[in-house]
Amino acid sequence: MTDLLPYGLGTPDLVEFQPGYFVEREIVGDLQALAEVAKANGFELRVESAYRTFEKQLSIWNRKARGELPLLSETGERMERPTDEEELMYAILTWSALPGASRHHLGTDIDVVDGAACPEGYEVQLTPAECDGMFAKFHAFLTARMESGTSFGFSRVFVPGRGKIKPEGWHIAHLPTSRKRLEHFSLDVLRNIYERSDMECKRVVLARLPELAEEYIYPYFV
Ligand SMILES: [Zn+2]
Repeated sequence: MTDLLPYGLGTPDLVEFQPGYFVEREIVGDLQALAEVAKANGFELRVESAYRTFEKQLSIWNRKARGELPLLSETGERMERPTDEEELMYAILTWSALPGASRHHLGTDIDVVDGAACPEGYEVQLTPAECDGMFAKFHAFLTARMESGTSFGFSRVFVPGRGKIKPEGWHIAHLPTSRKRLEHFSLDVLRNIYERSDMECKRVVLARLPELAEEYIYPYFV
């Protein structure tokens, strides 16, 4: 039977780590350990995004394609929705993963901020400006732990110079577990899932799938 977990389908073994945020059971111990070390250093590791289903990612993708969610340019400003389907697809890809190929499907990846540095009532955006601003000390702490091999298996994956996805300092992955999840990832399976799904820009995504994988998927299999 095909393992559908890497695509955000099937039934992963999830644990609710923080209210509303689910992660793969295997990473809970290490994530708890990281949160405790953070706490001892004055930070509050707060999860802003965790496991996401294929349906959820498809909904984000389709709403962006239909103009129901704002499209942002590479520099983060709101942009006009391109009428050309290929341009529209690339515009969505600037900030959103292809459904079925988001690392959030793995249950091993989370977006984190420092709850202790978050002003009362502030709505987190997950932007580079926040990483360099209010959460800078927290990110410096995470970087130091990762560089010294004391981050309990967590690393950043969306880093400068890798693939075409914008760097995301807030996104951390439990690599020992995600590698296992991605072992049997197959582009043919993803293609079959797309062919059966109600996905905007499907024609151009299918036509370009091998190139898209080289630029937006495989570089992040680390
Ligand atoms: Zn993320």
